[in-house]
Amino acid sequence: MLAPHLAVVGGGQLARMMQQAAIGLGVRIRLLAEGPAVSAAQVVVDHRVGDHTDLDDLRWVAGEVPVVTFDHEHVPPEHLRTLEAEGHVPRPGPHALLYAQDKGEMRVRLSVLGVPCPLFELLSSDVEEAVEELLDFGYPAVLKTTRGGYDGKGVWVVHDEAQAREVLTEGREVLAEELIDFRRELCAQVARRPSGEIEVYPVVESRQADGICKEVIAPAPDLDPGLAQQAQDVARTVAEQLDVTGMLAVELFETADGRILVNELAMRPHNTGHWSIDGAATSQFENHLRAVLDLPLGPATAHRPWSVMVNVLGGAVQDLPAQVPTVLTAEPSAHVHLYGKDVKPGRKVGHVTVVGDELDDVLARARRAADLLQDG
Ligand code: ADP
Repeated sequence: MLAPHLAVVGGGQLARMMQQAAIGLGVRIRLLAEGPAVSAAQVVVDHRVGDHTDLDDLRWVAGEVPVVTFDHEHVPPEHLRTLEAEGHVPRPGPHALLYAQDKGEMRVRLSVLGVPCPLFELLSSDVEEAVEELLDFGYPAVLKTTRGGYDGKGVWVVHDEAQAREVLTEGREVLAEELIDFRRELCAQVARRPSGEIEVYPVVESRQADGICKEVIAPAPDLDPGLAQQAQDVARTVAEQLDVTGMLAVELFETADGRILVNELAMRPHNTGHWSIDGAATSQFENHLRAVLDLPLGPATAHRPWSVMVNVLGGAVQDLPAQVPTVLTAEPSAHVHLYGKDVKPGRKVGHVTVVGDELDDVLARARRAADLLQDG
């Protein structure tokens, strides 16, 4: 096996799409995968099955490779610091990743930086104290586990003490936030190199169903140019102040009264940036690789007026590759991306992107292609 240039921890679809970008750059990836047939293990030759919480498995993937990057944010920070002490360079580093791992730490830090966020309070891990604190904070409130939540798991809207008690668990760290009346959810992404160079992607709109991102429109339709600029400035500030390397996604609320507030951060390629594979001059996956390897970044501009990405969730169609001819016959303009995953209800198993000049047309085509792929 030829010596790898980049270690990647985690074998989901993000690592799979990093491999796609790595091919053109001649970057050889070594992968630590959760199982022998996970999404990225199917396409990265140099992989081994292991556990991202096991230091020895992390040492294997880091091997002689200087730079280590990630498919997810769940590698324990103490292991990353050990790898650093042993001469490896995790990008993003543990000092930055902390703010994508822990929503409480993130809220406190962003407030110090003056970045607009929902009002919040870190609750005591003692249930009775937390109930008292919530009385002062007020209802309704959004309760969030500070660590480990994803796709809306770990987020609850509570309207009274009884509901809060159902969520609060002795010893669990929970954050309370004001319930934001938002018009829509936006996302601002940047790529940042260790040397400080930054590329800023157009601000997109992300539409969710049942806590899962369903479709993304790039750029966000009818977004006030001042708000778009503010969103991009926030993403740039966060990347610089937290010293993020690689891709950063800043998920935002656009409030009913015309403000933007940060919801959360992701320090890796992000679902809301998948459109960039087919719709931008440089995809988020290529810029992630360039950024973590400290190579010059590519332009993040869209090359068509509109891109729409629709996620394909596990539905009626079980054999997705067998359905592709039908999809492409109906919508030849659709770019299909399959993740090689087993189809399970609601699981993200692929996405479809359509680019073009008229939003209504692009949206209709992308939805039709994704529906055909998902449910036949
Ligand atoms: P996850 O880490 O599971 O993605 P998020 O913090 O992004 O959790 O929250 C999931 C969803 O819950 C958001 O996309 C949004 O729709 C809703 N949500 C989160 N925080 C708030 C809030 N403060 N006010 C209103 N809705 C919220």
